[in-house]
Amino acid sequence: MKQPSTPDLSTRLIHHEYTPPQGFHAPQPAVHKASTVIFPNVAAMRAREWKDKSSYTYGLHGTPTTYQLEERLATLEGGLQCLLVPSGLAAISTVSLALLRQGDEVLIPDNAYGPNKALAEVELRHYGIRHRIYDPLDPADLASKITDATRLVWLEAPGSVTLEFPDLVEQVRICRARGVATVLDNTWGAGLAFAPFDLLGHGAGAEGALGVDVSVHALTKYPSGGGDVLMGSITTRDEGLHLRIKLTHMRLGLGVGANDVEAVLRALPSMALRYHAHDAAARDLAQWMGLQPAVAQVLHPALPGSPGHAQWKALCGAANGGQGAAAGLFSVVIDARHSQAQVDAFCDGLRLFKLGYSWGGPMSLVVPYDLPSMRTGATAHLRPGTVVRFSVGLEAVDDLRADLAQAMHQAFGTA
Ligand SMILES: *Cc1c(COP(=O)(O)O)cnc(C)c1O
Repeated sequence: MKQPSTPDLSTRLIHHEYTPPQGFHAPQPAVHKASTVIFPNVAAMRAREWKDKSSYTYGLHGTPTTYQLEERLATLEGGLQCLLVPSGLAAISTVSLALLRQGDEVLIPDNAYGPNKALAEVELRHYGIRHRIYDPLDPADLASKITDATRLVWLEAPGSVTLEFPDLVEQVRICRARGVATVLDNTWGAGLAFAPFDLLGHGAGAEGALGVDVSVHALTKYPSGGGDVLMGSITTRDEGLHLRIKLTHMRLGLGVGANDVEAVLRALPSMALRYHAHDAAARDLAQWMGLQPAVAQVLHPALPGSPGHAQWKALCGAANGGQGAAAGLFSVVIDARHSQAQVDAFCDGLRLFKLGYSWGGPMSLVVPYDLPSMRTGATAHLRPGTVVRFSVGLEAVDDLRADLAQAMHQAFGTA
């Protein structure tokens, strides 16, 4: 550096001469925070390459911290490329905006995550992209709704709120045969209940392997695990597809905060332990809820009798040492003889289950839903009544069971 005299203190504090020694290694990756990334010279600046992880160009395009999380998430889901976005919903909207254009059609399951449908009903419609809703439990209905204009099929296994488990293998086969791209919202399976890019267990990328084209994941849920981070990921195994999505991602200007990335990097090593603990507690409570007189139906794909149980068993039954794997979520249909006011009183009466959206954190949550306003298709597989969804946290199961019992007794005069 050419500096005639000693620079001012303020300058020296910005351009400080000290560089720490290389070779610092610790269990937790470093938090690199940057909008600006500094290039050594003009030639390097001109040769900048943001399309892959070979270098750094600008904070929006990645830092060592975001690259590390992306690579770990690709491993989790069995993908080869991964992109971080500011929320699970941003992962959904980015994929739809990247892969759909005017005149295209997108298919969405009737039990999809609600905001995915809302995006299609408003923004996509404004852009001249049509959507059709298909029956997630009837592959023939999906097949019949694919037209020459269909470019993308959204999949969810199981569906949000009502948790019907579809025949994912058959759905993907149908879309493959028709040359239509598939995107799975893999938040529930989280990379732990089944392998989205290797549904038949042949090994992802192997001869005869079957998988979705894109997997989106609300990292807000289990990967974060704290109820304190909003983030999403978009994982692929096809470089060209990844690049199409990455270009849109760049043009939309989507970035994630380094401290949030660090929180997910910190939570990721315990994710499988947490996932299976949430699962065990949720199955225990779901089974017990099924015995209660106020409950007309329990919706949990791992429980026999739940819609899509056989499909769950086929896809997720071998996970977790043969016990099968499921997220810590279940819903119940409160019998139609109980009024909405009673259902509300039950939810209000819970002390440990808090009223709140999202899931995947240590605190148990409950949400009552108005199903008729959420569905367009048939719901004959659901008993009449009011749907209440529980997200089971990491509290002691006996305490949660006692909480459910006291609130039911108070609201319904039973249990
Ligand atoms: C929560 C959730 C999302 C959205 O995640 P956010 O980070 O809250 O935007 C998407 N899909 C599913 C299935 C979810 O449960």
